[in-house]
Amino acid sequence: MSHTTGFVDCYCGRRAALRTSWTDDNPGRRFHSCIQYTRGGCSFFDWEDPPMCRRSKAIIPGLLRRINTLKEEVKTLEGEVGELQRTNRKLFQFVVWLPCIFVVVVWIWSALTAVKKQNVEVPRNTNMLA
Ligand SMILES: [Zn+2]
Repeated sequence: MSHTTGFVDCYCGRRAALRTSWTDDNPGRRFHSCIQYTRGGCSFFDWEDPPMCRRSKAIIPGLLRRINTLKEEVKTLEGEVGELQRTNRKLFQFVVWLPCIFVVVVWIWSALTAVKKQNVEVPRNTNMLA
């Protein structure tokens, strides 16, 4: 056990990595191990932090599970917020374009009505000429 935050070399002669254990027996306890451990390095291992008291071992894993549950809830809620923002954007576009579409429809309708009036009046005029 080194109990320091200084550098430690492994059996390979490389600088050992400082990692954190997240097991139920040693939650949050730091240790040194070979930086190449998973890729054929040596089996060097040394705790950086002192052993944890029983109270910490009993409480910390539950807190970690609670944190993970809350992180999942945050992820779910962020997804829902994103979906609501997309819907909100579509509604905003609809609200912006709706008056424009209404104006165009009214303009076309009034133009068609004017043309209909002219068409209706033309035969009357032709009758008067005849
Ligand atoms: Zn090593």
